[in-house]
Amino acid sequence: MPIFAAMKTWLDISSNSDFSIHNLPFGTFSHANRKKLGVAIGDYIIDVSNFSQEKEFPFSEDEKYVFSQKTWNRFMQLGKEKHLILRGFLQDQLTSEGSCLAKNKSKYLVRQTEVEMLMPINIGDYTDFYSSLEHATNVGKMFRPDNPLLPNWKHIPVGYHGRSSSIVISGTNIIRPNGQTIVPGQESPIFGPSKRMDFELEMAFVVGKDTLLGETVSVEEAEDYIFGMLLFNDWSARDIQKWEYVPLGPFLGKNFASTVSPWIVTMEALHAFKTQGPKQDKVLPYLQYSGKKSFDIHLEVGITPNGGNREIISRSNHKYLYWNIYQQLAHHTVNGCNIKAGDLMASGTISGPDKSSFGSMLELSWGGKEPIELSNGEKRTFIEDKDTISMRAWAEKEGIRIGFGDCVGQLLGQ
Ligand code: MN
Repeated sequence: MPIFAAMKTWLDISSNSDFSIHNLPFGTFSHANRKKLGVAIGDYIIDVSNFSQEKEFPFSEDEKYVFSQKTWNRFMQLGKEKHLILRGFLQDQLTSEGSCLAKNKSKYLVRQTEVEMLMPINIGDYTDFYSSLEHATNVGKMFRPDNPLLPNWKHIPVGYHGRSSSIVISGTNIIRPNGQTIVPGQESPIFGPSKRMDFELEMAFVVGKDTLLGETVSVEEAEDYIFGMLLFNDWSARDIQKWEYVPLGPFLGKNFASTVSPWIVTMEALHAFKTQGPKQDKVLPYLQYSGKKSFDIHLEVGITPNGGNREIISRSNHKYLYWNIYQQLAHHTVNGCNIKAGDLMASGTISGPDKSSFGSMLELSWGGKEPIELSNGEKRTFIEDKDTISMRAWAEKEGIRIGFGDCVGQLLGQ
């Protein structure tokens, strides 16, 4: 039995496009100086803001105001049932030759090359987890060789509250931050630009439903509270981080910028790629789960030196995460902490079992001790000025590809 229902669209879509009819991710774009909501399909965007004005668009006049917004937050708050109605309607429109969309292509389809992508949601609160066993162990080994994994790690999906105001859309330049760092052997810090700039290969999920203060969301219920996922580069200044993180964790080494990919890929689109996660040691009952709760999503990181070519320096997979997204959300709310549609929760660096799958320069160059060599002969321990970091993510099965688009940023000097 094939997993995917046979769906053929009248639109010409290349088989290696991220945006097949099975995907239909949500984004915000600017076209002719207007900000609008859109859904990606092949090389195009369906201008949902305009299309929603059609009589047959399956939402009441009262509901349609959500499509005049500049982000998807209000739409998310209409609930899962409405999300599925829009998805089903767009798939019908794309498969039927005589549909309203097919007859009005020039009115409602915009080429992606003609738009600027903007933040798809107004991010409320942002949380970053630390859920890759391989990443936590690698980093632990560098800082505490005799005791790499702290005692709480296999019991708690460790995380911290970050800052949402500095999360930027793919394509935004990143400025090398200043801060306090310690020169090895010295007792007092110096002030200046970070010398250990890094990326973190992460994915983030978007909360799609509110809870009230005091409510909890179980691992099973969490399915209903997650709207979709994005690619996420959590830019990190390792030297600033190293000096400041004791005892309260990440601060200025992290909050200067994180980059997200522009399209929210929905959980409905990702459903066929659910897979078994890593075997877990005994966890407390509120974190236990059954069935497939992880996702087989290929991840890669590319680096493009100034004037050079992009080359891939890491290949990983979302399924390597030890703690899955449903456990993360259950843990986040177990104390009654409320969540809101538009909150963003990132995974933490997703490293795999071997060096080719490590999700940060810190791990790839093993703390700066083992530079990686690029094909143009240049070496890297950390990111240099004018390097561009580009991440990609996609799931693929039975010839169906669900991609996330690019998550790109160039590091600029000061
Ligand atoms: Mn991070």
